[in-house]
Amino acid sequence: MSRRSYGGTLLTDEQRQICELARQFAVEELRPRIEERDEAEGQFDRSPVDQLGELGFLGMLIPEEYDGLGLDMLTYLYALEEISWGDPSVAVSMSVHNSLPTQVLLRHGSESQKDRWLKPMARGEVLGAFSLSEAGSGSDAAALQAQAIREGNTWRLRGEKLWVTNGASADLVLLMARTDTPEDRRGTRGIGAFIVPTDSAGYVPGRKERKLGLRASETLAVALEDLVLGDEHLIGEPDRGFGYALEALEGGRLGIAAQAVGIGEAALDHARDYADTRSQFGSKLREFQGIQFKLAEMATRLEAARGLMYRAAQAYTANEPRRRKLSSMAKLYASEAAMYISREAVQVFGGYGYSREYPVEKLFRDAKVTEIYEGTNEIHRLIIARELYLERGMNS
Ligand SMILES: Cc1cc2nc3c(=O)[nH]c(=O)nc-3n(C[C@H](O)[C@H](O)[C@H](O)COP(=O)(O)OP(=O)(O)OC[C@H]3O[C@@H](n4cnc5c(N)ncnc54)[C@H](O)[C@@H]3O)c2cc1C
Repeated sequence: MSRRSYGGTLLTDEQRQICELARQFAVEELRPRIEERDEAEGQFDRSPVDQLGELGFLGMLIPEEYDGLGLDMLTYLYALEEISWGDPSVAVSMSVHNSLPTQVLLRHGSESQKDRWLKPMARGEVLGAFSLSEAGSGSDAAALQAQAIREGNTWRLRGEKLWVTNGASADLVLLMARTDTPEDRRGTRGIGAFIVPTDSAGYVPGRKERKLGLRASETLAVALEDLVLGDEHLIGEPDRGFGYALEALEGGRLGIAAQAVGIGEAALDHARDYADTRSQFGSKLREFQGIQFKLAEMATRLEAARGLMYRAAQAYTANEPRRRKLSSMAKLYASEAAMYISREAVQVFGGYGYSREYPVEKLFRDAKVTEIYEGTNEIHRLIIARELYLERGMNS
């Protein structure tokens, strides 16, 4: 089914089957309705995400004892690439759910929290979202202001969250709020991580963002209006939520790299096929050296992005000290490659590339956000530079 080799013979039979299932889903279920979903901006269609859940794709990184598939990061990224090739707007839901709320619950949730929330999430019955960002705190995420006030055995949440992917349609949100007090601010050590059911009283989804790309994905603001939660909703220690979020985002970045690689591959496929059918000056576009150079550059950047992502996934799985730097590098390089490849694909299509009638216009719009979310590329450059000096310290 797949036209890719996935690193030649290195894949196990199980990995190959999973990749092929993901590609089949992308071809048969995602691609046929990709335009329709994009045009129906603001009306999030959860059905493809639910179908992914039925196939096990929402529990890929969860061990079998918690009803997941117990697969490794690399296999998950292979599958995510395929889903993103099918429709990046659907891939973002798969990525957020698998990388963020489920990983925090797995690593820091109690056994009863895992039974109650992680297991149905792994089975794909319950969709998870992640809420760290606010209007005043994006890159400087620890500056968040939403407040969790201690009242006996409960927490009362007040504030405004922003940019919550699936903030209305998900069932649960892993939400970061301050557990320190206004009189005694403790920075990164004053934030808790809470599991919030989206049907809780006081959880009020707001305006949906009207976006450049990923239009079939829901992104919105959420108001916390005296939302009261019992202690069982707090994950781990009350002052450690920020650390849990950052730890999960390390794996999340690899998911963004996979989304970007999927977008790049889709754009290259379309450009290659178009250059083989369109003729000008009596020759097919593919016969012009100027077009050949474009395709060669696009294909080379795509493979470089994929190779770096696989290397970063290996470092992540082996818990290598360089894993953080490699995750940032993979996200940075793959997102810029996706932007480059989709822009060049529009150019190969000429005027038709600028039209909504053809698919590369959407890919160009979708690619941009991979340079922005889960840490902007400027922030990843800062992380990479910081890690270079930390490494030198470790080696000396
Ligand atoms: C479609 C979409 C979905 C999202 N989904 C989620 C979600 O599900 N959950 C969630 O919590 N968040 C989500 N986000 C938020 C996203 O993570 C933030 O937008 C991102 O972290 C950047 O924050 P910001 O938008 O406030 O930009 P800012 O932090 O204000 O940055 C603005 C610019 O300044 C640059 N900049 C900032 N600080 C520095 C610095 N120190 N050095 C150099 N340059 C700097 C940035 O790189 C950027 O270019 C989503 C965003 C989008 C667009």
